[in-house]
Amino acid sequence: MYTYRNTKMIILQGDITKLKVDAIVNAANNRLLGGGGVDGAIHKAGGIEILEQCRKIGGCPTGEARITTAGKMQSKYVIHTVGPIYRGGHNNEREFLYRAYYNSLKLAVDYDIKTIAFPSISTGAYGYPIEEASEIAIKAVMDFIDKNDKIIQIIFVLFKENDFKIYKRKLDEIL
Ligand code: ADP
Repeated sequence: MYTYRNTKMIILQGDITKLKVDAIVNAANNRLLGGGGVDGAIHKAGGIEILEQCRKIGGCPTGEARITTAGKMQSKYVIHTVGPIYRGGHNNEREFLYRAYYNSLKLAVDYDIKTIAFPSISTGAYGYPIEEASEIAIKAVMDFIDKNDKIIQIIFVLFKENDFKIYKRKLDEIL
């Protein structure tokens, strides 16, 4: 476990849908109607209630975030954010990925969320290289904590062992 200011940061390897936190973050797409990867897993575990709310919301621009309840999962909320599709790194991917994390945290505070879990946004189907993506994730979270001390615990959930190792190395270096 890592501590930055008053916020605890934890890395876990596993399935984000199994966690019991105030909010889990979904790496969604612009339509917010479900998909593969973590998005598919969240909709499958949470059930139709999430999709119904997403339909009403009507979509989400890249880098922004929207919130629904978590349906049948143990967490309270799902924050749906949309990371960038990686197209070589010269299309503001870094900025959009940063905003996806930052805006998710802003929305979390609006809903009085104290514990939040992130998957590794954009590093699956969207192709963002994990080394750089993990640095951006950590930077965005730390910048947010610098401005806001309301979130108590932030968990990075890595599905793959190798991604977990990379996050661990980066956090060991930075914190
Ligand atoms: P994106 O389209 O944003 O790249 P993906 O869902 O394809 O989203 O991948 C994002 C990350 O989510 C990948 O690192 C993938 O290994 C991970 N992932 C897939 N399923 C789960 C899950 N159930 N819990 C946590 N992470 C998951």
